[in-house]
Amino acid sequence: MSTKYVYTFGDGKAEGKADMKNLLGGKGANLAEMNLIGVPVPAGFTITTEVCTEYNKQGRDAVVAMIKDNVEASIVKTEEAMNAKFGANGDAFPLLISVRSGARVSMPGMMDTVLNLGMNDETVKIIAEKSGAEKFAYDSYRRFIQMYGGVVMGVEAENGKHDPFELVLDKVKSDNNYASDAEMTVADLKTVVAEFKKVVKENAGQDFPTNPWDQLWGAICAVFDSWNTERAILYRRMEQIPDEWGTAVNVQAMVYGNMGETSATGVCFSRDAATGEDLFNGEYLINAQGEDVVSGVRTPQEITLIGSKRWAERNGTSEEVRAKDFPSLEEAMPELYNELNAVQEKLENHYHDMQDMEFTIQDGKLWMLQTRNGKRTGAAMVKMAVDMLAEGLIDEKTAVLRLEPNKLDELLHPVFEKSAIASAKVLSKGLPASPGAATGKIVFSAEDAEEWSDRGEKVILVRRETSPEDLKGMYAAEGILTERGGMTSHAAVVARGMGKCCVSSAAGISVTPSALKINGVAFKEGDFISLNGTTGEVYEGKVATITPTLDGDFGKIMDLAENNTRMYVRTNADTPADAKTAREFGAKGIGLCRTEHMFFEGERIWAIREMILAEDLEGRKAALDKLLPIQRQDFSGILEAMDGLGVTIRLLDPPLHEFTPNDAASQAEMAEKLGVDVEVVKAKVESLHEFNPMLGHRGCRLGNTYPEITEMQARAIIEAACDLKAKGLDPKPEIMVPLIGTVKELKMQEGIIRETAAKVFEEKGVKVDYMVGTMIEIPRAAVTADEIAEVAEFFSFGTNDLTQMGFGYSRDDAGKFLPIYIRKGILKNDPFQVLDQDGIGQLVRMGCEKGKSTRPNIKLGICGEHGGEPSSVEFCNSVGMDYVSCSPFRVPIARLAAAQANLKQN
Ligand code: PEP
Ligand code: MG
Repeated sequence: MSTKYVYTFGDGKAEGKADMKNLLGGKGANLAEMNLIGVPVPAGFTITTEVCTEYNKQGRDAVVAMIKDNVEASIVKTEEAMNAKFGANGDAFPLLISVRSGARVSMPGMMDTVLNLGMNDETVKIIAEKSGAEKFAYDSYRRFIQMYGGVVMGVEAENGKHDPFELVLDKVKSDNNYASDAEMTVADLKTVVAEFKKVVKENAGQDFPTNPWDQLWGAICAVFDSWNTERAILYRRMEQIPDEWGTAVNVQAMVYGNMGETSATGVCFSRDAATGEDLFNGEYLINAQGEDVVSGVRTPQEITLIGSKRWAERNGTSEEVRAKDFPSLEEAMPELYNELNAVQEKLENHYHDMQDMEFTIQDGKLWMLQTRNGKRTGAAMVKMAVDMLAEGLIDEKTAVLRLEPNKLDELLHPVFEKSAIASAKVLSKGLPASPGAATGKIVFSAEDAEEWSDRGEKVILVRRETSPEDLKGMYAAEGILTERGGMTSHAAVVARGMGKCCVSSAAGISVTPSALKINGVAFKEGDFISLNGTTGEVYEGKVATITPTLDGDFGKIMDLAENNTRMYVRTNADTPADAKTAREFGAKGIGLCRTEHMFFEGERIWAIREMILAEDLEGRKAALDKLLPIQRQDFSGILEAMDGLGVTIRLLDPPLHEFTPNDAASQAEMAEKLGVDVEVVKAKVESLHEFNPMLGHRGCRLGNTYPEITEMQARAIIEAACDLKAKGLDPKPEIMVPLIGTVKELKMQEGIIRETAAKVFEEKGVKVDYMVGTMIEIPRAAVTADEIAEVAEFFSFGTNDLTQMGFGYSRDDAGKFLPIYIRKGILKNDPFQVLDQDGIGQLVRMGCEKGKSTRPNIKLGICGEHGGEPSSVEFCNSVGMDYVSCSPFRVPIARLAAAQANLKQN
């Protein structure tokens, strides 16, 4: 741990800089950097993330003692830079400060903030007198007590009751018939302050602290505490942010956007975070505080004229009304707009990325409060990378590494079907807060969203506005609809981060805790609605969706990935249609064709059942003869769709009981169809029963006990390939033996396959190149991979089974305890989704190394679910695999992840 705990900034100087995010958090590092490049930033200091780690270990008293001198000295520096004094100090203007969290990566709304700190009965008077804005002073004071009382002293609404502070405000307003807080007079605000203090005393059991230093330490510790709230922990789990990182604390001089008509506050982006368009945009409000813009309580106005005109058009607002009531900052404060525009350009050029900025104008002076690389939709991410590369703002490597592979998924997300949408009834139009299409049943609470989705229902979460408490529900919902809130509201920001469709501020909408009304029409829980987060439209009922096609910038990104990759990507596909889709997405062959998936279609299942029922070899062969032409046709379709590319076809893998029915009616049907007594069927089903089917008679154990099955499958594959070759195609079959534990199991299967192939070549007078290889999915196979590679021409790591058997977690039963293990921190991730690199990954590494030791040119790949998960793909690159294989829709993600892995590891 470094011994410097506190880093100051202000007046064009800073002790930190942009590349110190790990220590200063994203916000702290950027505040320092903005100072260094001449952007106006209120002075302050950052307490490091390491102090948070110590706080979690040693507790409050030890940490306060550790940083006390540094904090006090830093307050003095801030006082000097801002020409103000902390606390009441003679004639000096009181310094008020904000205390905010700031982790390495942004965790929007998840942790605590305290504003206006330093207010007390004395400082409020001095501020009122010196600023001449008495109402502003008392309003800031009451806001401070309310915020500090809630965040630091824990005064909040108890279950089912109203917030006690809000009750005080409501009473003052109703006694005086005020419609809003803004109508309160100075006298009212003084009453509110006195009442708020009573509320604190009653609810927290102690007086509101009047000493600014007590206030400061309370706030600093509250921010550290907020690292460990339930919602922050949940967010970290979802975003895979390590608990050890901790948050920094930023203490900074307050500046005010609510000091009258020459003050304003806003949020802006150097490019469009939803579409990627290179257009400065954002929202602001005159005479307002930052939360007023993001909370959705007041409708914010657009910063640029062009943005304002587009807003009016979307909203159906006339140009006259727009210009008069909702002017852009560009029109309302042209000089300050120009200054802000220059700053945003400077920041984007400096950081070489789209910036998400917060600013305040205090009495005609612009201050930047924050800048960070902006969150963006998948589509915007792709467009910005392509545009910035073309502009020369970034190089190819940066363009590839900056992309988040999983976000490409959003581009593959459904949109509404054209014919369905043409006849769908538009109920309302709101802000296109987060793109994509969603359809589902209305629910009104986050808890219901979770509950309904757990039982398999697709839901739309409908709320007046959302708050961080709604996170889980938003995650569970297909889409989110809110009555209030702009493009920077909590719902919009969080939904975009999750890649969830969201529409906010829809016209004519009103939401209560149990009802939704849209332009007078009432909707209840369970009714279907549909949302288009790209246009902001809200539709009645269920609207069918389809998946979009990919071209343009997406294609350019895929080309970039292609030019920078070492590994290639295959797909797991069992049908010619899937193979074709995957090929369009750039798959270079099939890494896993699970033959058994073909057995359930049409008449196939009856032939398989007949084989299972057969009493002897002859009976089995007769049934297999029926299967042969069907399988040949299946393989022919797939080999043709992947003409010229390798196709790994796996021999039969699951235990046979998976093909027989369990219920009496289906057993009777089977008996009739196959012309046997129902008792025969029952007896067979019983005989196939196993205590641990996943560890039972499956995989190559089937082929080694019933060699005729392997023979039939090998024949079907080789015949299909020969026929295609005769037609002038270039089939490349790779026959894969599943569930090998010892080399002898493979050797026996290989013998059957090669013998069969030789026979077919002779019969047909045609030869094709083919390979024989195996899956490495049993730990013993990984450990003895050197022996196995003497027979296998390729390995495909079956990390689903390898995880199952390596961990000893049943794939079918782990759902009962894995979520608890993850919640309790025993496991970081679900190991069936994210490869456990420390354990299972070591088996994979050993398998690769040992395989290469006896067959240096052995082809290595992965076909477990992990083949489409970016961190696992990176691992596969590091152990020298040739390819990864994943489901068709993950192919683009894996391609990008493979390129990133290559760039990172070189
Ligand atoms: C595996 O085990 O990783 C695999 C791909 O095979 P399956 O999922 O079919 O068992
Ligand atoms: Mg398997």
